[in-house]
Amino acid sequence: MAIPRPLRALAIVSAFLLFYLLFQAFRTPPTIHGPGDLEHELPNEPTLQEYGEPPPPLWRADGYAADNPDSPRINATLLALVRNEELDGMLVSMRDLERTWNSKFNYPWTFFNDVPFSEDFKRLTQMETKAKCNYELIPKEHWAVPSWINSDLFDESAKMLEEQEVQYGPMVSYHQMCRWNSGMFYKHPALQDVRYYWRVEPKVHFFCDIDYDIFRWMNDHNKTYGFTINLYDAPQTIPTLWPETEKFMAAHPEYLHENNAREWVVDSKRRPEHNIKAHGYSTCHFWSNFEIADMGFWRSKPYEDYFEHLDRAGGFFYERWGDAPVHSIALGLFEDKSKIHWFRDIGYQHIPYFNCPKSPKCRGCVTGRFTDGERFLFKEDCRPNWFKYVGMD
Ligand code: GDP
Ligand code: MN
Repeated sequence: MAIPRPLRALAIVSAFLLFYLLFQAFRTPPTIHGPGDLEHELPNEPTLQEYGEPPPPLWRADGYAADNPDSPRINATLLALVRNEELDGMLVSMRDLERTWNSKFNYPWTFFNDVPFSEDFKRLTQMETKAKCNYELIPKEHWAVPSWINSDLFDESAKMLEEQEVQYGPMVSYHQMCRWNSGMFYKHPALQDVRYYWRVEPKVHFFCDIDYDIFRWMNDHNKTYGFTINLYDAPQTIPTLWPETEKFMAAHPEYLHENNAREWVVDSKRRPEHNIKAHGYSTCHFWSNFEIADMGFWRSKPYEDYFEHLDRAGGFFYERWGDAPVHSIALGLFEDKSKIHWFRDIGYQHIPYFNCPKSPKCRGCVTGRFTDGERFLFKEDCRPNWFKYVGMD
């Protein structure tokens, strides 16, 4: 029996309409937005999921007394590069980290400076912890501007960076600091026999009680690198970092890890203009003022060769390459991405960004809040990309 034509058309249209309505009703709301939506993006949903401690046993034990020579502590240190003038800010950071974590474990602190630490600095920082504090001078050859950097060219480049409103562009010491954090700190004789470090800057905050030994967790779970915040970088600080990386990779294709996070490194979908200005790099990086890591990675041949290549290329001075994008690109290419861990349980702030988990163990930050700065800063969060390409562990 033939169905009249108008009726058939109506049936098809209704079927499509029904399908569309059902699809709309059941689809999950998108967490990755197009670039146009970024300014209105709400804090990451994942940070709002409650997250407790790893399952027992918790590794908090009396054996961690500061003076116990048989302590179960593993080979690690808290690490801070800091200036004498930043003493007050350093005390703020120490107070928070000792209260929430280190007073239970007593890992030593190691402070680094390009000039000798003042007596006040040593006395007052040591008063914040039962653990041992070490005060180390950076060898001249680790801090000095390398011989192949041309000072006229540096001055010229500094002017250009200034015109592009790159923060700290003309400040030589900032460039030296970025280079030292990229490729020098782990070569300091004081760290020769140390494996893991937790980097701490002055004036940062920690909000959540952590009752397990973070370093042991890294060790037992075979992790290389831990982060809290993932950000976009200012592309004008790194125009040739990715092109130099590509040159390096062309010469060393064997360094690319088979389980790498390259897709995260080169993403161009979420913030296309950043990728374009950085010539192929998303600019997404682990915000390195917080890092918990295994120095074995920085000491490995792929990373050493990479740093050497970048150092010779001059971008630490002629541009303003940060240690964060350098570390991040290297990790994204040479490391097994399953060895990189988001510490969602560590509540952290370095102005103007936060990682603030939902947990009864946290005090002093607003759950899920990414920034307390201007609204436009919300779009700087690129954790959604990390979750998209790598996952949440
Ligand atoms: P920002 O976080 O990028 O704004 O840069 P900071 O001024 O916080 O510097 C990053 C880290 O390097 C901080 O721990 C500073 O204390 C440290 N730092 C920066 N420049 C110097 C320097 O010239 N000498 C020393 N000893 N530490 C520095
Ligand atoms: Mn800082």
